[in-house]
Amino acid sequence: MALEDKREKRPPVTPMMIEEEAALRNGSRGLPPGPWAEAAGPRPRTTERHIAVHKRLVLGFAVSILALLAVTMIAVLLSVRFEECGAAADGPPRASGNGSLSGAARQPPGAGQPPGRPEEEARGGEAAAEKEEEEEEEWQRRRELPPWARPRLPRHLRPLHYNLMLSAFMENFTFSGEVNVQLEVRNASRYIVLHAHRMHIEAVRVAEDKLAGGVRVARSFLYPQTQVFVVVLNRSLEVQRSYNLKIIYNALIENELLGFFRSSYVLHGERRFLGVTQFSPTHARKAFPCFDEPIYKATFKISIRHQATYLSLSNMPVETSVFEEDGWVTDHFSQTPLMSTYYLAWAVCNFTYRETVTKSGVVVRLYARPDAIRRGSGDYALNITRRLIEFYEDYFKVPYSLPKLDLLAVPKHPYAAMENWGLSVFVEQRILLDPSISSISYLLDVTMVIVHELCHQWFGDLVTPVWWEDVWLKEGFAHYFEFVGTDYLYPGWNMEKQRFLTDVLHEVMLLDGLASSHPVSQEVQQAADIDRVFDWIAYKKGAALIRMLANFMGHSVFQVGLQDYLTIHKYGNAARNDLWNTLSKALKRVGKSVNIQEVMDQWTLQMGYPVITILGNETTDNVIVISQARFVYDSDAKPKDPAFGDNSYLWQIPLTIAVGNTSHISSEAIIWVSNKSEHHRIPALEEASWLLGNINQTGYFRVNYDIRNWRLLINQLTRNHEVISVSNRAGLIDDAFNLARAGYLPQNIPLEIIRYLSEEKDFLPWHAASRALYPLDKLLDRTENYNIFNEYILRQVASMYLKLGWPTNNLNKSLVQASYQHEELRREVIMLACSFGNKHCHQQAATLISDWISSNRNRIPLNVRDIVYCTGVSLMDEDVWEFIWMKFHSTTAVSEKKILLEALTCSDDRNLLNRLLNLSLNSEVVLDQDAIDVIIHVARNPHGRDLAWKFFREKWKILNARYGEALFMNSKLISGVTEFLNTEEELRELKNFIKSYEEGAAASFSRAVETVEANVRWQRLYKEELFQWLRKSLTH
Ligand SMILES: [Zn+2]
Repeated sequence: MALEDKREKRPPVTPMMIEEEAALRNGSRGLPPGPWAEAAGPRPRTTERHIAVHKRLVLGFAVSILALLAVTMIAVLLSVRFEECGAAADGPPRASGNGSLSGAARQPPGAGQPPGRPEEEARGGEAAAEKEEEEEEEWQRRRELPPWARPRLPRHLRPLHYNLMLSAFMENFTFSGEVNVQLEVRNASRYIVLHAHRMHIEAVRVAEDKLAGGVRVARSFLYPQTQVFVVVLNRSLEVQRSYNLKIIYNALIENELLGFFRSSYVLHGERRFLGVTQFSPTHARKAFPCFDEPIYKATFKISIRHQATYLSLSNMPVETSVFEEDGWVTDHFSQTPLMSTYYLAWAVCNFTYRETVTKSGVVVRLYARPDAIRRGSGDYALNITRRLIEFYEDYFKVPYSLPKLDLLAVPKHPYAAMENWGLSVFVEQRILLDPSISSISYLLDVTMVIVHELCHQWFGDLVTPVWWEDVWLKEGFAHYFEFVGTDYLYPGWNMEKQRFLTDVLHEVMLLDGLASSHPVSQEVQQAADIDRVFDWIAYKKGAALIRMLANFMGHSVFQVGLQDYLTIHKYGNAARNDLWNTLSKALKRVGKSVNIQEVMDQWTLQMGYPVITILGNETTDNVIVISQARFVYDSDAKPKDPAFGDNSYLWQIPLTIAVGNTSHISSEAIIWVSNKSEHHRIPALEEASWLLGNINQTGYFRVNYDIRNWRLLINQLTRNHEVISVSNRAGLIDDAFNLARAGYLPQNIPLEIIRYLSEEKDFLPWHAASRALYPLDKLLDRTENYNIFNEYILRQVASMYLKLGWPTNNLNKSLVQASYQHEELRREVIMLACSFGNKHCHQQAATLISDWISSNRNRIPLNVRDIVYCTGVSLMDEDVWEFIWMKFHSTTAVSEKKILLEALTCSDDRNLLNRLLNLSLNSEVVLDQDAIDVIIHVARNPHGRDLAWKFFREKWKILNARYGEALFMNSKLISGVTEFLNTEEELRELKNFIKSYEEGAAASFSRAVETVEANVRWQRLYKEELFQWLRKSLTH
């Protein structure tokens, strides 16, 4: 599953904004969703459609009443007893016959009786409730939790195969289903407990397989607290026999983001609807009763009945379609291989598609709304998907497992994408691409999300983590392979060696440097914890640890190990130790012996990361002292973590060291550092040699040195920076800024390092500097002496800005052909120049905007549009704001719409900012997930920070109700609004606010407090030191 990760999409905010995306997320960096187009408000529809639907509903209602009567009569006549579900509606048990099952299931449930909400269903009859209480008391007497109240499903049953028949009623957004589960009994028990949530269960029956005899159901009920459905039998199921469990149910296709939900789009002025699923991590249970834990792999045979005006899709291809006279059709899909419930998927839509076939015969289709398919917006994704399947098949030496892969582009989805096996779902902005109006960073986003989801077809779908604590394993791999796979598509871009550092490593070290961080492998007990594990620590730290592992193992041995792992565990589940064992064996075969489990456990089970300090050559010959300690931003926060208090954090660190002088560098082999402090002999260490740790930043840690060594390194960068690798230049910048921020290093060292940038022609060090400067800027942007800082940065940028100039209008040039490194460097420098107030940059932006307004032709180069829009809005009068506002409304291109909206937050007119904040909650104007971005962007603007903070507090109830269930959105909002608060007053306001709204999001709020405390502490301790040095430096 890809969480939405924006790269490089932040225009400057007045007076400066360097890198909002790269921003320091001292709180958890939020995880934005895909667009969710609809809100709770009334759903717009045309009158015609409304009338048509109304007629159909009336007709459906009449038919269902007739059917119900007929069914009841037949049942009474035949006296066939079907076990009544205790959880069904109140009232006397309704008898119904076998013959009625399919008939009842085929009625639109909404036309008769609407499916109840879980709370209603849970009530059941009074007698049933009494029995339930008695039974719970019995369990209490035995001092045990009843099997349905435990956080995990009891282990006595195993599903082998599901037959699932669904009918989707798109005219009233309901569906009905009949599921038949073949069960294997491991331990005798009278209880069947499986997941089911937010559905109305009509009937349940248990039969012994192959034999005709049924097993009487004593009662059954939904238990919403653990989201399960419980069937209590009159006698025990016997060991090693298999049984069939049949459940008939119905539910709503809800207007939300999880389970089987609906969304819509407008085509030729008419609103069209579609139903699609999102089951990961725990929402399959909202769509059908199932054993909804990843370990319960089974095979699935799905059939979907729908109106013939729609088409249906699922994981497997359609085997047969049966058309009925009344305009309905049933698609029967082929049986899946063994798989977990959360990778199951289906959709009912009227999309069209384009298709391609891989060398090995896998049919790849991209389905999207018809206008997008016609425009060719899906062609890029389709083309790279074919190439990527071929890449992964070759890399993993395991063929893609299914006959087809469909990519589905939907308007609304909670994540950037979801890797359902054979039917991966993407939010439109992460898969549709129109080359004539997309920037390089947009293309990069689309590419990497696709690379990510395709990796999951192996890491996740084929081999699935045993339990959610190891979610970081599949997500870490997929995130790491985003860079490896993109390098395959664009070999010159060097993503894994370069961009990985700024976008993953540097970014996650910001989060993981908080005392309130958490280990990458988190214990997960109950369903409510499961959403929590999908955060940037899992994704980015997971990826950083995997990269470190690949580097110390050697890439080719690592690859062989992965091949073995996938081959051994395919169609099954595996835990992290299975991977460590396979990798250790692969290492052993090449004669190396490292206990990978022992090493990796320290990195995955402990939170945070170390800072290595290398002290050189002062006393004895060629001997250096290497020590390790946990890095943490706010040393005052240390006592909050008792484990940290006793100084017990220790890692086995694969440290590489290079020794260099002005013209020469030599690298040493890996030194494994496993003690608090160690002495090591380094040959050829001369008087003027410098030491450099963590070569190419392959390790997940920071490195600090004595001041003398820092000076030698600065000297080296100034005289000839190319002696040090591009990735280490970026690494030195990031380490220095963050060490200074946390108080490990004097404040002037990072500012001295970036002086060499005037000679730096590579993108990555600029990018690292820009990202590292951003949080510092936010700490200073409301202070009296801000101009001194501003002036200093402007001086460092000026000469490169002049050298590079502006891009020409490249509307006709294919993005893929554009020189990525050069264009991205130019963009970065322009962004810095415009943000810090370079006059030429401002003029250029104003000229481009004026030209657009007067000619009504947008000739602004694609790759800098966001910078120009934002600079224009911040510098020019209200008319420009209105113009951008108008364009935001009129454009239909998803990528363009987003940057226009973000530009509106750049104004320094507080009335306009307030107006925008208030409009942001109107779902008709701003998509729900974009509203979060509006509020966060206003908070990043120094003129709007207090407005956004006030708005957030006043509207918290509304915001929390809207985003609460999607935890990652809420946490993004909280950290985005609070991360740059930095005064004592604001800290007090934050603490008071939390006191009054304790419920939910507790982890996000405690991170927010730690971040703001660290900000306040930095202001108190280091701000003056920084300004003093800057003053001195500028007068020289
Ligand atoms: Zn993923």
